[in-house]
Amino acid sequence: MAADAAKPPDKAILDERDAPQEETVVYGAVGRCIYCGDSGVRLTKEHIIPYGLGGRHILPQASCVSCARITGKIERECLRTMFGDLRLLRNIKRRKRKAKDAYAPGPMFAMVGGRLKPYPAPKPAERLTTAMMYAFHEPTILSGQTPLTRKDRPFEHGWAILGLGNEAGIALQAATPDLSRVHSMANFHPTIFSKMLAKIGYSYAVAIADGKFKPIIGPAIVGKEPWYFGFLVGGNPNPVAPSKFLTELRLLRCPSAIGKEYLMARIRIFGDLGAPVYDVVVGEL
Ligand SMILES: [Zn+2]
Repeated sequence: MAADAAKPPDKAILDERDAPQEETVVYGAVGRCIYCGDSGVRLTKEHIIPYGLGGRHILPQASCVSCARITGKIERECLRTMFGDLRLLRNIKRRKRKAKDAYAPGPMFAMVGGRLKPYPAPKPAERLTTAMMYAFHEPTILSGQTPLTRKDRPFEHGWAILGLGNEAGIALQAATPDLSRVHSMANFHPTIFSKMLAKIGYSYAVAIADGKFKPIIGPAIVGKEPWYFGFLVGGNPNPVAPSKFLTELRLLRCPSAIGKEYLMARIRIFGDLGAPVYDVVVGEL
C-alpha cells in the first residue's frame, strides 16, 4: 500500500457476520424512514443485502414508500447490469413476481456460411469469460478531506478481475497489470454502485447499532443531499484473498486522521470469488 501521511489509526471491529443468508433474520423494527427521517407514514422493510444478491436479513419498518422507490431503482440497476451474469452463474434466485426485471443474456450470433445465424446461448459458466468489479480507494472523509478535495487521487476507481478460474480471465489479468486502464463498455456506473453499497452498509449499521451513532449518509442515498463520489463510500483497491462466503458484513469503529470517530460498514459481495472489499462511512460515533 502506498505511504500515506494522513493514514488514520487502526480500526476496531464492532460486529461481523457472514451473510450467505439462506436463513431469514429479522432485526428490530425501526419505526422511521432511515433515509429521509419520516415517521407516521407507511414504512416498508429493507433487505440489508438485496434479495437479488441472496440477502435474507430484514430490517422492518425502515423506509418510506418514496425512498423505497429510489433505493429499489438503485438496486435493480446494479443487479441487472453489473451482477446479471454472476447471479446466473451462482444461481441466485429472484422473486418470481419481478420476472420482468429478470436478467436474460442477450442473443448470440455466429457466422455460418458467410451469414449471421442465431447461436444457442451458452450456460452461464461457459458464457462468463471475465467478471469485473470496481476497486475503490479509501473514503476520503477518513483522511480528513472535505467532500470536494481529491488529493493524490489519479483515478476515482480501478478494476478488480474476479477469480473465475477460466483462461480468458487469467489472460486478461496477466495482460493488464494496470487495471485502472481497462475500459468498460458496460452500461453500469460507479456512482450507482457506490449508492447500493451505501444502502447495504447503512441499513446494516441501523440494524446493529441504531441510536449509537449519528447518521451522515441516509439523505444523500435518496438524493435529498448531494452525493460526493468517493467521500463516504470507498474500499481497498488492493487485491484481497478470497473468503469462504458469498457476502460478508462488518461494522468498524474508525478514527479519522483529524481525530473524529466514525462508524464504518465493511462489505464484501462475491468475496469467495476474490471480489474487492468496500467501506461505507455511515455516521459519527
Ligand atoms: Zn423516506
